[in-house]
Amino acid sequence: MLVTMKELLDEAHIGGYAVAAPNVWDEFSIVASLKAAEELNAPIILDYNKIMSDDIMRFGKIAIMLSESAKVPVAINLDHGRSYDICLQAIRAGFTSVMIDRSTLPYKENVKEVKEVTEIAKRLGVTVEAELGHVGQGSNYAQDGVNALTDPMEAVRFVEETGIDALAVAVGTAHGAYKGTPHIDFERLKELRKSVSIPLVLHGGSSTGDELLNKAVECGICKVNLSTDLLVAGTETFNECMKDEKMGVMFFAQQAFIQGFKDKLCHYIKIFMSDNKA
Ligand SMILES: [Zn+2]
Repeated sequence: MLVTMKELLDEAHIGGYAVAAPNVWDEFSIVASLKAAEELNAPIILDYNKIMSDDIMRFGKIAIMLSESAKVPVAINLDHGRSYDICLQAIRAGFTSVMIDRSTLPYKENVKEVKEVTEIAKRLGVTVEAELGHVGQGSNYAQDGVNALTDPMEAVRFVEETGIDALAVAVGTAHGAYKGTPHIDFERLKELRKSVSIPLVLHGGSSTGDELLNKAVECGICKVNLSTDLLVAGTETFNECMKDEKMGVMFFAQQAFIQGFKDKLCHYIKIFMSDNKA
């Protein structure tokens, strides 16, 4: 069933677990994500990123159709919406949540642009996620892993001034594969958890490591975004299948992709302790 992301995250907040948010872009990645969630009876957030597929209306139709018939609660979220317009498009396409990411702007401008989105989204019953501090790229980890981490006192102000429902925090993770060893500033995360009243989101889950991710959830993270690891797992099983003389046709390879993606996501759902929480 289709629900808002706020419902899922508020329950995770109380229950002490995190909902997995895989990046999805088409029917196959959605099916793989829903299969994993149903297999483990877990809530799930379908995280759509415009970089991976441009046709947001088409995506919305497919995602809504598949989510409505799912046996577990599903939220459809816009990942890293960079403008008011793209957030409005996502709302028109039927998403139940949007992330407005203006985290590279100075504080005041970030607040102003996020507020514009929360004002309209709240009236329409759509959840809003925003980012303070900035989660960078794993390929530039020496700088991005320590620069622009979220300040707990500023985070309190940001949540009050914007009226958002979930806050993405920069505590040491980064997007994509890491060049170097990932580390998380757990003291900062604990401080954020103590001072901020809404659910916290961790971006850049891939290749951070099971132990660090599990500890981050225990310290108060309620949503973990995943992309690279699921893509790599799906691509590996896809390629293996294509090499097989008897199985090397698109139909079987697509099923193999779904299987590899799904298995990896199941692994993470357990790490995030959201299995049997649907
Ligand atoms: Zn992200």
